[in-house]
Amino acid sequence: MATINDFNFENKKAIIRVDFNVPLDGEFNITDTTRIEAAKPTIIKILEDGGSCVLMSHLGRPKGVSPEFSLSHILETVSKIIGVQVKFVKDCIGSKAEEAVAQLKAGEILLLENLRFYDEETKGDVKFAESLSKLGDIYVNDAFGTAHRAHASTTVIAQFFKDKKCFGSLLAKEIESIKKVLEDSQKPVTAILGGSKVSSKITVIENILDKVDHLIIGGGMSFTFIKAQGGKIGNSICEDDKLQLALNILKEAEEKGVQVHLPLDVVAADDFSNDANTQIVDIFNIPDGWEGLDAGLEARKKFYDVVMQSKTILWNGPLGVFEMENFAKGTIALGNSIAESTANGCFSLVGGGDSVAAVKQFGFADKVSYVSTGGGAMLEMLEGKALPGIEAILK
Ligand code: AMP
Repeated sequence: MATINDFNFENKKAIIRVDFNVPLDGEFNITDTTRIEAAKPTIIKILEDGGSCVLMSHLGRPKGVSPEFSLSHILETVSKIIGVQVKFVKDCIGSKAEEAVAQLKAGEILLLENLRFYDEETKGDVKFAESLSKLGDIYVNDAFGTAHRAHASTTVIAQFFKDKKCFGSLLAKEIESIKKVLEDSQKPVTAILGGSKVSSKITVIENILDKVDHLIIGGGMSFTFIKAQGGKIGNSICEDDKLQLALNILKEAEEKGVQVHLPLDVVAADDFSNDANTQIVDIFNIPDGWEGLDAGLEARKKFYDVVMQSKTILWNGPLGVFEMENFAKGTIALGNSIAESTANGCFSLVGGGDSVAAVKQFGFADKVSYVSTGGGAMLEMLEGKALPGIEAILK
């Protein structure tokens, strides 16, 4: 697996696919700079070698050239975070871009305009990828968030670099941390899956059953498992067409010796609202008119015990409706347990959309071993799929 550490970038121009698809407010201020900070180590290593960086990324989903999606909005923040004044060119291919690259000196950084101003990017157009490939001597992919897409800049471009292509340090770390959970893991391994739907996680569950010792199922998706086993779930969310599937998973888990832990009790509410009346009830006996919105106290205690005896933990999905303060406590308790277990030497990986948001919101990001930057890409890797952006470098 070639990474930037296998190359000396002295007097080389690296064309780097970064993921600067950052959230912007109405005044084009970046509201979360995590993705830019995550790309910094790769950029710094190349500059320190005596090379220069050509950064390419998409931002949002523009239809053709649209100024509100221009990467020029993020230029100053990128410069500040990297600590070098970054140059900008108003195109990502063609003569303007080529000229700007030709003028780039060692130690300098150039940011190209939004790749998705061209339809060819998401179509994986070979000619467009070839035009991009003219802008660097070595291709570096450091964009985990788009590694599951076979786009021109994430995948197709790699064919123009033969042995001059590699993973950036962020992408390498993402791959390593998933490997640490799925392949080279220390036992016991615990996967914690929460969130709203069984259907969106089913392929993940199927793939990890061979690899884990414990499976904690929490959040909205637990009710499908409870109803499938004859429990009364009141108004809790449930996928009625997945009841048999839930039973099949439980059976398969048993056959494979995986211990499945569902919440023993839940915080039930009489309305989907932070101000609703609440009571803690047995998850198999939720009264009519009430819905489970968070893990109960028994459940939290049980999950704590499982997490504390684990040596490897994967966490994807909240244990309740954490966006509402009154139903965030189960998710916070779980985050605390994982932090404590990590401090005791366990390896913990948090990934996939909402759990990452929860981990950041509640301040656990520095207390777990690794927080993945790619939601969809992370889920696809956990599903056991080969990601085109990764395969293209390995080829
Ligand atoms: P997902 O995108 O599938 O990971 O689901 C995340 C969403 O699940 C969050 O927005 C949570 O509010 C929601 N969620 C978690 N637990 C519950 C629950 N018990 N009832 C309804 N929604 C839930």
